[in-house]
Amino acid sequence: MEMASSAGAIIDGKRIAAEVRRSVREHVADLTRRELRPPRLALILVGDDPASHIYVRNKSRACERAGIAYLDIRLPEDTPGERLLEQVDELNHDDTVDGILVQLPLPGPLRHLEPAVMERVEPSKDVDGFHPENMGRLLLGQPGFVACTPLGILFLLEQTGVPLEGAHAVVIGRSVTVGRPVAALLLHRHATVTICHSRTLDLPGHVRRADIVVAAAGKPNLVRGDWIKPGAAVIDVGINRTEQGLVGDVVFDEARQRASHITPVPGGVGPMTIAMLLQNTLRARTMHR
Ligand code: NAD
Repeated sequence: MEMASSAGAIIDGKRIAAEVRRSVREHVADLTRRELRPPRLALILVGDDPASHIYVRNKSRACERAGIAYLDIRLPEDTPGERLLEQVDELNHDDTVDGILVQLPLPGPLRHLEPAVMERVEPSKDVDGFHPENMGRLLLGQPGFVACTPLGILFLLEQTGVPLEGAHAVVIGRSVTVGRPVAALLLHRHATVTICHSRTLDLPGHVRRADIVVAAAGKPNLVRGDWIKPGAAVIDVGINRTEQGLVGDVVFDEARQRASHITPVPGGVGPMTIAMLLQNTLRARTMHR
């Protein structure tokens, strides 16, 4: 059908994530048919943060639907750090557990232990991809677990069919969970990558030269439509709660007029994260025979 305007195509993260989840479910069903055990993911939640509770519930539901077994481990807010580390050790040694996910952020008194906890998870069970060994493997281009949101971003870009090789990709944000790993993934696909952050001078100038924009700053409406190079692909990772509701880092209506492809918020990158967690857990299962 002829399009009335030249607005960019919306990248339907919900649909693409559903396809990934279906593929995982089929693989799990195949294991069960062959009388092999399904993958098993341990989800550790410490404390009472309401948002973390919702995230863990969404993850456990997604596991259920994919046929992935899960262990729901809840620890009180005042859990001593040693106890949390012992819990991780127990799961590391449990041959029936393929993946271990410690929901972040940890509550205030344990926050300083986050790096130690990430490092305690056995790298072959680190389905979140936050262990220094897996981060290092990513930089080295060696096989390992990659964080779920960056994996989801790359998957969406690959689905659009836009060429990555030789493209100029501008990543806004340098966090260890999103910006840095996504930059490494793009580099492996032979993009020329610029990483921008809060101290970058002339952010609009960088974005204007980008064939691919990945916005992961967590700042509502940071990226304006007139910054977007005509025909660029725009991936909006931001999830910002505002009085206008949930918005991304990109002014969607403006940017869509110039982009070739663009993700909505919500319904773009968001649904991909859990889909990639399921995929990583299935992969962990194939590593633990
Ligand atoms: P973060 O706060 O850890 O990092 C933000 C990064 O953006 C920093 O590197 C900072 O330097 C940079 N930044 C901040 N303001 C900037 C500015 N004005 N100009 C340029 N750079 C700027 O955040 P994060 O954990 O990387 O998350 C980023 C956003 O993505 C958040 O909105 C978060 O909610 C969202 N997020 C979504 C998903 C998902 O969709 N599943 C997953 C993770 C994070």
